[in-house]
Amino acid sequence: MKKFVYIFLLLGSAFLSGQGEWQKITDDLDIRRLSDQIWQHRSFQVVGDIRFPSNGLLVVGEESLFMIDTAWGEESTDALLIWIKEKFGKPVKQAVVSHFHPDRMGGINNLHQIKTVVFAGEKTVELARENSLPLPDTLFKSSQHFDVDGTKFEAYYPGPGHSPDNIVVWFPEEKLLFGGCLIKSLEAPNLGYIGDAVIEQWAATMENLKSRYGEELRIVPGHGKIGDVALINHTIALVEAYLEKSSKTLNYKL
Ligand SMILES: [Zn+2]
Repeated sequence: MKKFVYIFLLLGSAFLSGQGEWQKITDDLDIRRLSDQIWQHRSFQVVGDIRFPSNGLLVVGEESLFMIDTAWGEESTDALLIWIKEKFGKPVKQAVVSHFHPDRMGGINNLHQIKTVVFAGEKTVELARENSLPLPDTLFKSSQHFDVDGTKFEAYYPGPGHSPDNIVVWFPEEKLLFGGCLIKSLEAPNLGYIGDAVIEQWAATMENLKSRYGEELRIVPGHGKIGDVALINHTIALVEAYLEKSSKTLNYKL
């Protein structure tokens, strides 16, 4: 039994540590392989004095690729598309963007140029329109299933949190959840940008994810390192700390 557990742990960590090394594409973009068909792209922007990384994924099929979130801005998305062309020689036929902010769909124009069909949740399309942003091509209501040559995944709207429209992407075979900005990495000391956040509902949205996908999973957050269910718990703790602090302030004022 012990041996079995050991092998299991070894396999589990292989998914984490066995993932490929980062390959630098430009100063602001790198990429690595997570599994046979899934790659992670990571682009950087300086906000204030801090250089922030931002995560997205690629699903590589036999004939084409699927992109989950553009790189952060047009320059890095352009570099990513050039790299994809050289590396795979296949088109990015479809993409999904996980909410309306620029770290998620800032490269949507680049995708439109190459005729990629960009999916988004209906709320994202609504918010993009309200903010006069370039629009995704196809919308879905609560979920949308995809199958890229056998790699199956779903885009799902679990409720508001970081933004009113944030969706996640779930790979059932790999038990991999792309959480986007809805899920904070362990190194995040606070909720980050909350200008569009729905903080009172954020924790309930996290619980919804746990009940839908379970707690044995790997999570790619919008920014920072991949982890497990601890990222969801950390996000709930940050939300609770924020709400507690603001209620104290309110009590004080009263
Ligand atoms: Zn955001």
